[in-house]
Amino acid sequence: MSYDTNNIFARILRGEIPAHKVFEDEATLAFMDVMPQSEGHTLVIPKVAAENLFDLAPADLGRLIQVTQKVAVAVREAFRPDGLTLMQFNGPEAGQTVFHIHFHIVPRYVGVGLRSHSRQMADNALLADHAQRIRAALGKP
Ligand code: AMP
Repeated sequence: MSYDTNNIFARILRGEIPAHKVFEDEATLAFMDVMPQSEGHTLVIPKVAAENLFDLAPADLGRLIQVTQKVAVAVREAFRPDGLTLMQFNGPEAGQTVFHIHFHIVPRYVGVGLRSHSRQMADNALLADHAQRIRAALGKP
């Protein structure tokens, strides 16, 4: 499959669709997942056009995972989960639904199961509040 420049994350990067952003630099963007599987579910994407792990140059992957760690530290500080899962899917058969590579940062809470993937939209005000908490933990209110 070739990269679709109209995928939803490419449109977020171009500013055509709003997102609850938590971090941005010249190479990456992090924002709240609109259908969170747990409280604080955050996505991190590179700005380069890459569909999956196999399309991304190693240097770009390096920057992406470094920012993913930085944002995960802030998510942990903001939500104090019991654990935190990173996920990254390649191809529809693996569960990928948006074809611009991304890492999922999914906080985990004892006794609370994960909600279904890509299923239920969260309340906009709640996502705004969660994004604000993560930005505050990053020192970027
Ligand atoms: P994946 O299945 O790994 O490709 O995950 C795509 C993720 O993007 C899912 O968790 C969706 O809930 C999420 N998602 C889809 N559209 C948007 C959007 N407009 N803003 C933020 N997250 C989105």
